[in-house]
Amino acid sequence: MSAPKILQPGEIEAFSSAIPQLHPPAADLFRARAGRLRRIAPDHSLAAYLGFIAAIADCQQSLLEGLSDLPEAASRHIERRREHGLPPLAIDGWPRDPVWRGLARTLATEVAGDAPAQAQAVMDRIAGSSDDWLEDQASALLALDLARVDIAASTIIGAALQVYWVRLARGFDPTGVARPDPPRLCPVCGAHPVASVVHMGGTDDALRYLVCSLCASHWYLERVKCSNCANTRDLGYHAVENPKSAIRAESCPDCHSYLKVLYRNLLPELDPTADDLGSLALDWLMSDEGYARSGVNLMLLQAAPAPREAH
Ligand SMILES: [Zn+2]
Ligand SMILES: [Zn+2]
Repeated sequence: MSAPKILQPGEIEAFSSAIPQLHPPAADLFRARAGRLRRIAPDHSLAAYLGFIAAIADCQQSLLEGLSDLPEAASRHIERRREHGLPPLAIDGWPRDPVWRGLARTLATEVAGDAPAQAQAVMDRIAGSSDDWLEDQASALLALDLARVDIAASTIIGAALQVYWVRLARGFDPTGVARPDPPRLCPVCGAHPVASVVHMGGTDDALRYLVCSLCASHWYLERVKCSNCANTRDLGYHAVENPKSAIRAESCPDCHSYLKVLYRNLLPELDPTADDLGSLALDWLMSDEGYARSGVNLMLLQAAPAPREAH
């Protein structure tokens, strides 16, 4: 019997280059999210709210499927940014196609019947809103400038922006996109992650990926590494009850932030946006322990400060 083989540095590099660094969003992303929300809602204290987000996700899926190919101008922007090593769909300065405003108004109209009574006025307001107001709200939301964001309207506006950016992210070849350093922002659009996911099966079995809160791309990050400041020492893992839970928070003693880790190898149907909403008790626990949330969920903007930079 031969001794266990220890990888030499060159071999480790060869191994890492074989790791898929980036996965574009899935075609049925919003359908899967809606299904997962409906499975976790019935026994949940936030059942009505999760059901409303599921109705939004259903509508997002049909809007995504109805969007046509990227216009020529978008493809040219992507190429120019790629040549400069920038995230190809960076939210900063991206010329948003007016089509996204139609998505926001349609969403507000279509899901009004599922919205809680107190949200009806907000749905009407979005459906009849001016172009200028929608653009101003989109800019504030993407910049996480919460003082300017109309929080009551942000779920619908965020949902419309997700459909638009997911369509963009599905419309170009992701090879050659630069690896982000530090890893906290999406290499495709520059938005914050909602959570991280440990994949199961295929070439990335047991590898961990961060999942974009906006375009839903997955980008690779080593396990046991802070996504906010890249620290690898003394990370903590927290769960509400069972320490082997499929949803845990990875905390960093250096920058005092945390990001959730969803273990699909334990529960394959986990969805980053849905299960983040379904595990708010973990956020309350982490807040009590003095950690700041670094994940962003556009379906529920929390009145926490924007993710802090590493010092
Ligand atoms: Zn992104
Ligand atoms: Zn950190």
